[in-house]
Order: sequence, then C-alpha cells, then structure tokens
Amino acid sequence: GLFCRELPKVELHAHLNGSVSYQTIEKLIRRKPHLNIEHSMTAIGKGQRRTLEECFQVFKVIHQLVDTEEDILMVATDVIREFAEDGVKYLELRSTPREEKNTGLTKKRYVETIIKAIQQCKNEGVDIDVRFLVAIDRRNGPEAAMETVKLAEEFLLSSDGLVVGLDLSGDPKVGHGKDLLPALQRGRNSGLKLSLHLSEVPSQLEESDLLLNLPPDRIGHGTFLHPEMGGSQSLVDKVLKNNIPLELCLTSNVKGQTVPSYSKHHFKYWYQLGHPSVICTDDKGVFCTDLSHEYQLVASTFGLSREALWNLSQQAIDCIFAPETVKQQLKWRWTDLKHHIF
Ligand code: 5GP
Repeated sequence: GLFCRELPKVELHAHLNGSVSYQTIEKLIRRKPHLNIEHSMTAIGKGQRRTLEECFQVFKVIHQLVDTEEDILMVATDVIREFAEDGVKYLELRSTPREEKNTGLTKKRYVETIIKAIQQCKNEGVDIDVRFLVAIDRRNGPEAAMETVKLAEEFLLSSDGLVVGLDLSGDPKVGHGKDLLPALQRGRNSGLKLSLHLSEVPSQLEESDLLLNLPPDRIGHGTFLHPEMGGSQSLVDKVLKNNIPLELCLTSNVKGQTVPSYSKHHFKYWYQLGHPSVICTDDKGVFCTDLSHEYQLVASTFGLSREALWNLSQQAIDCIFAPETVKQQLKWRWTDLKHHIF
C-alpha cells in the first residue's frame, strides 16, 4: 500500500467531474442545498456495482452541482491538489465544455476556468505538471463535436501548451463514431492529440475498426477489442501495428460492470503482450478510488512485483501528450526518486 502511494505516477485518464472527491462534493452540496443531492447519488461505494447507464446518471447529478465558473475553479483546483497528494507527478485532465444558460457559463469560459485552475496550482507550487484534453461527448452529435474541436484549436494556440488534445467519451450506446470522424480528423490535422474511448461495450466493433484507422494516439478502455472478449484479431493487430497505448481503469470497469471481476480485466491480455498499458482512475470520485489504489489492485490481482510496478509507472511517461522535453524531465525525476522508495 505504502509503496504504491510513494511511487511517482502518471495519470492519463481522468474526467474532471467524475474525479470530484467526497470533501468537494460536500462543499458543493452546501452551496446548493435546494437541489437535495446526497452523497449516495454522486458516488459508488466499496463493493457496490452499477450498470453503465446508472453511472451516466451519476454524472448528470454532479453536473447539477457544478454549473458556475466558481464551482469549476474549485473542483479543478481540488482535483489537481488531490492527485498531487497521491503522488501523481504528471496529470492529463479531461472535461466536456458545458454551456449553462442559467448561470451564464459558456464553453469557452469553461475551458478558460480550468486553465486558470491549472495555473493557480502551478503558482502555488503544487508538485504536478497538469495538461488538459477537451472532451467531446458523443451524445451531442457531429455539430457540437465540430464546435468543440474548433474551441480546442483556439486553446492549442493560446494556452501555453496546457491544452494538448481531444477526448471522445460519453455514453457508448448513443451515437455512432462515423458521424464524428470529420471533427476528429480536423482536430488531428491541427495538431491535437486524440484519446478515444473505444469498445467500452461489446456492440462497437465496426465503430472501433473505423476509428482505429485515424489512428488515435491513445485508447480509453478498449475492453472488447480482443478476441477473448468478442473482439477480433484484426482490431488487436491495428492497435499493435500502430503501437497505440491503452488507458486501463480497473475499478471503473468492475463497478460499471463491463468487466466481470478484477482477475478477468483485460489488463492481463495487453500486459502479457508487452503492449503499453497505462493504469488510470477514470473517475476517482464516482468510483471511490485513487491512482495508488489502482496500482495496488493491479499488483494484488496479477502478482506484479515492486520492480514491475515501477516499470509500469515509468513506461506511462512515454504515453503522455506533452512534448518530448517534458518526457525527458519526467524521466530524470523518476530516476531521482527511485532511491527514495527502494
Ligand atoms: P466531465 O466531462 O463533465 O468533466 O466528466 C463527466 C463526463 O465524462 C461524463 O458525462 C461522460 O461524458 C464522461 N465519462 C466519465 N466516465 C466515463 C466512462 O467511464 N465512459 C465514458 N464513455 N464516458 C465517461
């Protein structure tokens, strides 16, 4: 337990509003008592399971609590500090820009506020390098996706390297990836990196095949890509040929019931192939976890040694979207820290 906490870590798959801690939810509930929201509506506790549909309901509740600039600023700074306290040295946060007519929040202001939070944490000396992925919610369709890409392009030029890419997420059962291809292609051509949720549910083989041709720079989950889960060898071959890292979130997949148990998690399949697999939290608040706990789970479920855990966290550096100079700095940092924990 202590080893995983002290281990320097890289977090690459964290949705902002899914990462809001119990303490921060408490503060938001106090700001908005009239909503009558309780903790049981915003988090899935130990041993509990939900369907994926129920998980998406949870996000709707959290979005009600987080609907002003002040909320976003607080949520983002709290989440960044919490990751830093857990030993995360490099974090890529992702979030879907939202417009809220009631509070005057715009999508542009939404992104600006998250950038402000990142800069505030940096100025306070919080020991973590944070970057941002602008998220496309597939439920909102192709026009909204294109609008989001254009917004991300603006920030790619103006955010001093803080905005590095795009995420594609949202309910996998709604919409089809082919409609979003033009937006994703455009983003890619403007220099935005792509992290796409792929094959989170079994029915997405054709979509995954199409999106893998982009190809994306990283894959979120990819639960049903491999033949043992009903996927196919040709999908696996595309991932391997393009060497596309996978972002794997054990607790999220087990609590959301897309994976039946920890020991059956597809981490095993990809890790045995020696394919770049990055351990992530997904939604640390909703799923009541943190990145140390996820590393701990991988170790206890699959019998990884301390050395193997070290290599796993170090290899994640090669999968980040920030430039080569940042990778080099992180590698030096890891080398420095190694003596302290072994
Ligand atoms: P936000 O983008 O508002 O910061 O974070 C919550 C959003 O992230 C959700 O509304 C959903 O679009 C996305 N999200 C969070 N967790 C998951 C997940 O496990 N799967 C998918 N497909 N989307 C997710």
